[in-house]
Amino acid sequence: MSKVLIAEDNAVNRELLRELLEMRGYTVAEACDGGEALRMIEQIQPDLLLLDIGMPVLDGYAVIGKIRENPRMARLPVVAVTAYAMQGDREKILHAKFDGYLSKPVNSQSLAEELNRLLNKRADRDISRNQTPGSQPNDKAEAAHKSE
Ligand code: MN
Repeated sequence: MSKVLIAEDNAVNRELLRELLEMRGYTVAEACDGGEALRMIEQIQPDLLLLDIGMPVLDGYAVIGKIRENPRMARLPVVAVTAYAMQGDREKILHAKFDGYLSKPVNSQSLAEELNRLLNKRADRDISRNQTPGSQPNDKAEAAHKSE
């Protein structure tokens, strides 16, 4: 089962992300600031990091910089999660070596698509077996979103 680390200083946002992830069968760990995020990456070796940009101790830009310069973490897929919806932020974020980008409030379907895109690169052969582990698929919602 894929393990996702949420690095986010806002407790409400952390809880929301945790629920969306657990609903889809992911194992979830949480960090409350950038320093804790870096320590937890070493400790629990997540498969993917959801990284808030605005955080105390180290912000998301500082954290992604440290991740990419550390050989033990450099290949970790990292998705920026940010409320900074201003023009140009998306480009700035992708330029900062993030693998993806989600804007707040995080949309369940967008989150699922980013996770599928980044995690299934390594697990193509397991997709059909593991699509909805631990939860019942919501067929109507899935079908509705596929037309987007
Ligand atoms: Mn924040």
